[in-house]
Amino acid sequence: MSRALDPAWLEVMRQRLLEHQAQLERQLSDLRSVVQAESQYQDEEGPVANHPADEASDLLAAEVDTTISRALEDELNAVKTALKRFDSGSYGICVDCGQPIERERLEAIPWALRCVRDQQKLDAARSRRRA
Ligand SMILES: [Zn+2]
Repeated sequence: MSRALDPAWLEVMRQRLLEHQAQLERQLSDLRSVVQAESQYQDEEGPVANHPADEASDLLAAEVDTTISRALEDELNAVKTALKRFDSGSYGICVDCGQPIERERLEAIPWALRCVRDQQKLDAARSRRRA
C-alpha cells in the first residue's frame, strides 16, 4: 500500500472541508447578528447605566461572543488554507516537515496543516510563550 493519498479519499476530505466551511460561516454570521442586536440594545439604553449589574453581564456576554467568534474565525481560516492546498496539490502534506500527515489525523481534523509530531512541537512552543 503506497503512502500516496488516493483521489477518492481526497475528494471525501474536500467535501468535508467545504461543508465545514459553510457551517462555520453560518455560525459566524449568527454570532455577529447577536452581537449587533446586543449593541443596539445598549445604545438605546443610553450612556448612563441604570442597572450596573445588567451592564456587567452584557459586557461578559460580549467578551464570550468575541472569544467564540475568534476561535471560529481561526478555524475558518485553517479550513480555507486547507482547501487552497488542494489546488496546489499539497493537501495532506505537513507544512513543517514535508511528510504526509497521518490519515487518521486528517480524518479527525481535515484542516490539519501539520503532522501530529510537529503540531505537538508547535503547541509546546506556544504554551511556553504564554507562560
Ligand atoms: Zn511534520
